[in-house]
Amino acid sequence: MYYVSTRDASVRYTAAQAIEQGLSRDGGLFLPEALPRLPDLEKLIPMTYQQRAATVMKLFLEDFTEAELQEYADKAYGPEKFDCAAVAPVEALHCKTSVLELWHGPTCAFKDMALQMLPYLLTASMKKNGEEKTVCILVATSGDTGKAALEGFRDVEHTKILVFYPKDGVSDIQKLQMVTQEGGNVGVCAVVGNFDDAQTGVKRIFSDAAYRDILAQKGYVLSSANSINWGRVLPQIVYYISAYCDLLAKGSIRMGDPINVCVPTGNFGNILACYYAKKMGLPVKKLICASNANNVLTDFIRTGVYDRNRPFYQTTSPSMDILISSNLERLLYDLTGSDQEVRGYMQDLSQTGRYEVSETVKEAVRANFASGFCDDARTLNTIEKVFRDRGYLMDTHTAVAYTVLQDYRAATADDTPALVVSTASPFKFCDSVLSAMGVTEQKSGTGILEQLSQVTGKAAPKPLAALAGKEIRFTGVTEKEAMTDVVSRMLR
Ligand SMILES: *Cc1c(COP(=O)(O)O)cnc(C)c1O
Repeated sequence: MYYVSTRDASVRYTAAQAIEQGLSRDGGLFLPEALPRLPDLEKLIPMTYQQRAATVMKLFLEDFTEAELQEYADKAYGPEKFDCAAVAPVEALHCKTSVLELWHGPTCAFKDMALQMLPYLLTASMKKNGEEKTVCILVATSGDTGKAALEGFRDVEHTKILVFYPKDGVSDIQKLQMVTQEGGNVGVCAVVGNFDDAQTGVKRIFSDAAYRDILAQKGYVLSSANSINWGRVLPQIVYYISAYCDLLAKGSIRMGDPINVCVPTGNFGNILACYYAKKMGLPVKKLICASNANNVLTDFIRTGVYDRNRPFYQTTSPSMDILISSNLERLLYDLTGSDQEVRGYMQDLSQTGRYEVSETVKEAVRANFASGFCDDARTLNTIEKVFRDRGYLMDTHTAVAYTVLQDYRAATADDTPALVVSTASPFKFCDSVLSAMGVTEQKSGTGILEQLSQVTGKAAPKPLAALAGKEIRFTGVTEKEAMTDVVSRMLR
């Protein structure tokens, strides 16, 4: 199987080449030329999550052996990394609604599902491509990605990782998670400014050809752990197929029964993986795209107009505070089959911040997707109500999805069994969850974890509880103009 770029389908790459490059040189995203068919679900049911992962990924990665992929899956999703044998368990909330929990990994957010796997895929790809340099991963993070990438790449041979976060732009817990990071190949630095400043700084380093030459002479090559890398999308396809098998095994559905899936969406990576699973043959009826007040995707799915010219809101679900959803480009390519058409839309987007898709694409989008959004007040309301009624505690991102699913059901009378995708532990967003419970006097630092435990009777995940005793290793702060110096000091 070969991979092509969304903006130029004439050049074909192997999986290993697509994963090593990350982003295509024409600015497009890599995707497989054709999607494989779903494996036999009956055979997947008795398998462990790790076996399901190796089986599904093998369909896409012809240049990797089954034994290699099984080894990566065993390491990435093993018991030292995930606090639950099911890895991505499905919890029944009520008879027609289940929650797919994607936060049992080392950083307690769904980014672990992909970022525990990516280091294996990336380093193996480099070996297969004959690349002998050490790869240095540069990440600008607004919170969850940085920590998940640090955990994924820590002490992985032939890699280094350096994470930049906005000095005053992440929560106390998120900051503590990063500055206490262990590992001999890791670095963390605060940037004076906001997330965009950190992101722009990293992009500038990537596009500085002269600087890349200097690094190459020292034996380093830069790479990114961004959600646009195919090596991050692929591991996410696995859990949708796995969840369907779990619903079958529990008797919640019968083979072939359709389900709806509601995903809290930011960069469109997670929901795109579900779209691919559907195209492979998984019986998914509607993909419900849930947004917070930054509802650019809600509008796009309803109208076919993508327009980022709108106010940006900071919400209680910060990992979805995004106005440019990069992975949408892959969907557009899939629906148009035309690199030329995608190039046109992306050109409009960069020139005017807006594009409108053709009637054909609009119809195809509406056939597959539904959409909705919900504000902070309703999000917190949902957290409190679901906890009171069902004893289930959800984080803000999950609550956005749950609320949007209720709205969808009320508006359409479609009561197909549904899966709500849960992307973070509630303990990652203690302040908002406590506010939802009506607790206004909140402890600072790690004290807030215990406070949420006391209020809800739920235990904090071990990796978060352990933060209390951890040594702070990284105190560096840089002006955004001096970020290159931080890289140079690390790659001396
Ligand atoms: C990253 C993230 C999302 C958004 O996922 P996308 O793949 O970018 O759509 C949602 N929730 C949480 C907790 C996240 O960390």
